[in-house]
Amino acid sequence: MFDSITGSIRNAVNKIRHQDDVAALNKATSELKKALLKADVHHKTTKELITAIELQTKSAGIGQDSFLKALKSELTNLLTTSGNQGFVFSNTPPTTILMTGLQGSGKTTTTGKLANYLKTRKKKVLVAACDLQRLAAVEQLKQIAAQIDVDIYFDDNEKDPIKIAVAAKEKATKEFYDVLLIDTAGRLAIDEELMIQLKDIKDTIKPNEIFYVADSLTGHDATKTATTFKEKIGIDGVILSKYDGDTKGGVALSISHQVEVPLRFIGIGEKMPDLEVFIPDRIVSRLLG
Ligand code: GDP
Repeated sequence: MFDSITGSIRNAVNKIRHQDDVAALNKATSELKKALLKADVHHKTTKELITAIELQTKSAGIGQDSFLKALKSELTNLLTTSGNQGFVFSNTPPTTILMTGLQGSGKTTTTGKLANYLKTRKKKVLVAACDLQRLAAVEQLKQIAAQIDVDIYFDDNEKDPIKIAVAAKEKATKEFYDVLLIDTAGRLAIDEELMIQLKDIKDTIKPNEIFYVADSLTGHDATKTATTFKEKIGIDGVILSKYDGDTKGGVALSISHQVEVPLRFIGIGEKMPDLEVFIPDRIVSRLLG
């Protein structure tokens, strides 16, 4: 995003010369507003951010430093949704996670990345191949599991994803796995059948958490679909995939603010180690350069 933020905004901010320079402050906030909207930040999020930054700057005394400090702290505030960060283990293993998302969002890859992340932290991880919707998904997960040397549960003869999930959970419990990650089916767009299937898996398996993988390149749509998943099945965290390709970056702010579900991880590339815990400070530094 913040190529434009750092450019145009810094120019405007540099013109704030003294404590009564309300006109220069207005110019800076108006540049900021333009940059936020251009970076795909939701208009409501933008409005609230601008108001908060204005207030904070005025109460600290209008100035370049106070403006930049307010900008940084309000962005951090916005990204710090109350709730868990990173991965949270249940007291009664296996910690069971449903991985959800639309087709192509990066859900299967992210399931592998998360398994890899946990494996490097010495956890015993089982992944379950329950995406029977996309033809190649089971094969893809098998390949990923082999590549990262993590166990996988699949059943090529079973057509019912719920039965596969149940059997995977039994295996994970009996064999003392720390974590079970269940890759579920996606669709190209949200449909009722997908939601019912997910709800059934949720009600049967009773996962500890449901993660929604959102493709950051889809901009406002990522916020909309995450909201629908939250309303229809309930989600406990968002993993923002393809953040490496997102030059705008505003989607993290919009999701945090509009969906009000914590961002847990970000995907920053196609390879298995390309997953980072979402840390608001670090994202703000990246955004502001
Ligand atoms: P699914 O249909 O949601 O399971 O999607 P896939 O896991 O097959 O991912 C779709 C495409 O997105 C693949 O080409 C992945 O390599 C790619 N992908 C996933 N996550 C990331 C990421 O964080 N960064 C980049 N650059 N590509 C990603």
